[in-house]
Amino acid sequence: MADASPRDRRAVVRVIFLGPPGAGKGTQAAKLAAHVGVPKIGTGEMLRTAIAKETPLGQKAHPYMEAGNLVPDDVLVALVRERIAEPDCVRGFVLDGFPRTMPQARGLEEMTGGDPHAWIVFDIEVPREVLMMRLSGRRWCPSCQATYHVVNDPPKREGVCDVCGTALVQREDDREAVVAHRLQEYDDRTFPLIEHYRTRARMAPVDGNRPMDAVFRDLLRALEVPA
Ligand SMILES: [Zn+2]
Repeated sequence: MADASPRDRRAVVRVIFLGPPGAGKGTQAAKLAAHVGVPKIGTGEMLRTAIAKETPLGQKAHPYMEAGNLVPDDVLVALVRERIAEPDCVRGFVLDGFPRTMPQARGLEEMTGGDPHAWIVFDIEVPREVLMMRLSGRRWCPSCQATYHVVNDPPKREGVCDVCGTALVQREDDREAVVAHRLQEYDDRTFPLIEHYRTRARMAPVDGNRPMDAVFRDLLRALEVPA
């Protein structure tokens, strides 16, 4: 059933999002996963939870996250391998934040049987100055992990989570100096994946500098899923 048409409701859906930090991958991945009824696997969230709970993987990852560096490939591959072995992933999944390096892409191919042709890879493109504005305005609820933006998606009461009332914070990796570093890491380590997948998977470039709903409609069209 791995090669069934995406029009078939039982088809396996495997989606990868590429694109720089701030391109809107997390938001789109969550919407898409909910729409097609498969889990969204967000490595950023999984890491932050692991760090908060001080699990062995979390303790390994913490210093890298704090400095805005990419977490080592083996840590991320282990995290994703465990997650996609869970039963809710049999019909597929939407990956967010993974793979970001060539070794991670190879790790993913190993754990899913080696054939990336059944996957669709969305490459979300956004100009650099727009990314900087988007990222430095992000706020995050440390309690329930809801996300906000001071300009684009503010909470009802300034600085307070709508869902649970906790004070919002700026994540360490959204501070301006760290953001510049993350963008550089993207260019160095993740950008080559676009070339890698161009010949090995179904690639769909998406103009991410538009309203969220317009971007989302492009994703559905590329997946041949009804809106
Ligand atoms: Zn909250």
